[in-house]
Amino acid sequence: MGVVNPPVAEPQPAGGNGTVRSYDPLVTIVETQALTQRFGSTLALDALDLQMQPGVTGLVGANGAGKTTLLNAMLGLRVPASGSLTVLGFDPQTAGQRLRAMVGFAPERNVLPDEMRAVDFVRHLSEVRGLPRGEARNRASDTLWLVGLGEERLRTLGTMSTGQRQRVKLAQAIASDPKLVLLDEPTDGLDPMQRSEMLTLIGQISRDFSINVVLSSHQLEEVERVCDNVVALDAGRLVACGPISDLVGAGDGITLELVDVAEPAGSVDAVEAALRAGGLDVRRQAATLQLRGAAFDELCDRSRDAVAAAGARIRRLDTRRRTLEDLFEDAPR
Ligand code: ATP
Repeated sequence: MGVVNPPVAEPQPAGGNGTVRSYDPLVTIVETQALTQRFGSTLALDALDLQMQPGVTGLVGANGAGKTTLLNAMLGLRVPASGSLTVLGFDPQTAGQRLRAMVGFAPERNVLPDEMRAVDFVRHLSEVRGLPRGEARNRASDTLWLVGLGEERLRTLGTMSTGQRQRVKLAQAIASDPKLVLLDEPTDGLDPMQRSEMLTLIGQISRDFSINVVLSSHQLEEVERVCDNVVALDAGRLVACGPISDLVGAGDGITLELVDVAEPAGSVDAVEAALRAGGLDVRRQAATLQLRGAAFDELCDRSRDAVAAAGARIRRLDTRRRTLEDLFEDAPR
């Protein structure tokens, strides 16, 4: 990553053992074809066909969508029921050892040993991934400084806050100079300020050291903020996959934000009801209504009429912006 030199000679996917499909490192980081995973009667991954491109990829979906199952498959921790998967051009089932030298991982669960010092923990995992001891020690120290824990590196993990422990998980994932890091819910348990700092750090690390990142999250707005690409899952099915700039942005409809005042009582409710009764697609969050289902001018006219009839007041009326949430709302059931 540029913090230090690459630890191992780079495996060459194209010259491998027949497990590799065409791999262009500038185009494809992860590719699946009809990837399917079952747990009893649960279809955790439902015939997924997807490609992840370089940069930061947000792996999004509600609880149980299949995010962790997909990450585990990418790490070769589970044999898929059917279908195929390549990571950096390799099949994780047959090239696990080579991939472990190139892929860092920070799991969702709290897996840090309380009694161990941060620097020893990161050093140990770097050695497990193949670095000589002296180099692993230097990298552990470098990466802990990089994630903002330089002063705390000699503290035991059990004495650290949730935010600090998430940073230690990030440090161990990047310490052995990976080409790709998989971060499972890296902002879990953090307050809004810590979330923002963590996302900024992840973006910086990816850019500055050319590390590809797959970041799993159920926080759609944080994925929109930091990611270049998105893979959206819903109950094991692929909802969307591609550059985030293609999936969000200018959209159809309008955003109508009303002044949420007590008088006249229920005015926002009345506007919402009138617009729904007129057959429009209305989504409401507090005093903000997202409206679709008619041309822009007609939406504006109908909004004006509904607002006047209810005695409400408009704070803002704007072209509606398409968000990641729309991908899930619009997905076929
Ligand atoms: P979360 O955000 O809650 O971690 P997720 O998107 O990571 O959710 P997964 O953990 O991949 O979702 O789970 C996908 C589905 O597979 C869920 O229905 C889950 O209950 C089921 N599942 C996952 N692992 C197992 C397992 N080892 N045994 C049985 N069912 C499992």
